[in-house]
Amino acid sequence: MEYRAFLIKYAEIALKGKNRYLFENALVDQIRRAIRDVEGDLRVRKEQGRIYVECHSDAYDYEECLQALQRVFGIVGICPVVILEDQGFDQLTQDVLRYMESFYPDESLTFKVNARRARKAYPLQSMEINARLGEAILDAFPKTKVDVHHPKLLLNVEVREKIYVYSQEIPGLGGMPAGCNGKAMLLLSGGIDSPVAGYMISRRGVSIEAVYFHAPPYTSERAKQKVVDLAEQVSMYCGPVRLYVVNFTDIQLYIYDQCPHDELTIHMRRYMMRIAEHFAGEDHCQGLVTGESIGQVASQTMQSLAATDQVCTLPVYRPLIAFDKQDIIEVAQKIGTYETSILPFEDCCTIFVAKHPVTKPSLKSIGKSEQKLKERIQELVDQAIETAETIEIGM
Ligand code: ATP
Ligand code: MG
Repeated sequence: MEYRAFLIKYAEIALKGKNRYLFENALVDQIRRAIRDVEGDLRVRKEQGRIYVECHSDAYDYEECLQALQRVFGIVGICPVVILEDQGFDQLTQDVLRYMESFYPDESLTFKVNARRARKAYPLQSMEINARLGEAILDAFPKTKVDVHHPKLLLNVEVREKIYVYSQEIPGLGGMPAGCNGKAMLLLSGGIDSPVAGYMISRRGVSIEAVYFHAPPYTSERAKQKVVDLAEQVSMYCGPVRLYVVNFTDIQLYIYDQCPHDELTIHMRRYMMRIAEHFAGEDHCQGLVTGESIGQVASQTMQSLAATDQVCTLPVYRPLIAFDKQDIIEVAQKIGTYETSILPFEDCCTIFVAKHPVTKPSLKSIGKSEQKLKERIQELVDQAIETAETIEIGM
């Protein structure tokens, strides 16, 4: 006996009416996308508030399909299902016994049969199905026991057009399907934090685009490739990502020339935000996302974050704001970005950092130093925007 389908469980039960419909459609889209490269003819079907992934070819890759589903936001549980033709109740009983034999060879377990008759014309009622199948199992496997309160095995038998039998629920990621809650622009560096930040915001149903600032020749092509790889890894969860690669060298050199060196990171960050906002506006994003967390480095104190926020008109979302580094690392490991993130390529921020950066910049002094950039900065920003490279990832 083998699993030929998956029943997809999703939560967010507060969703009603139109929102529920949007949620379900977004979920179906994301599932289709996640399994499109899995071997076998797999189809997604929505039926009476349920979503099924069903195999229509002789063979498919069960493990690969399961792993793909485990990357889809919005799924709370994945139940592998055996689909049976309706050939009468006696045949169903035989098939259920075979199911038990195949998947639960250890017979000394407690169980409960949970029948649901979605097809009302079926000759037996749910309670009768429960009783008869329960009895047949007890007879065939004398070591089993019925436990209606806390069974080890809950054997679901759903009578639809065909009959669906399942008993296992593999946890999904939870959250909401990407795309059902708008779009945000992620500032993606090659570090550990920003890919995790993108993953987390996307888990709430937000699709993402990304912008990466590099500083050739101070940063290498390999550093850029690392960010492209990270964007690809994140897009396995959050869907297609449009990545803007912005040449930040001239802006950085100009800031380095004109501004006090202990403020460099703050000024750079403010221009990164402004440029990110430009692309966010073009692509109708509703917010910016960064991997910042309070106190992690000098540029992430409350004062520094305020200095960064001052130049933004869009809301800035920082999903990791209260995370310890170790917690962030754990998520990075779980989602598979960690190994790429720790590759030792230079980042544009680390090349121009001061030995003793300000930790409590005042908005007033930052504003004053920024005046020193007046002459050329707009021209340099325009140039950076014009020469940005666009890479479509995971389309
Ligand atoms: P990360 O691991 O994400 O690089 P970090 O601890 O190195 O974070 P910073 O370098 O201070 O922290 O960067 C803070 C945030 O600013 C990053 O999480 C990212 O969102 C953004 N950022 C930093 N550098 C870049 C860059 N070169 N391109 C795009 N965004 C960047
Ligand atoms: Mg970084």
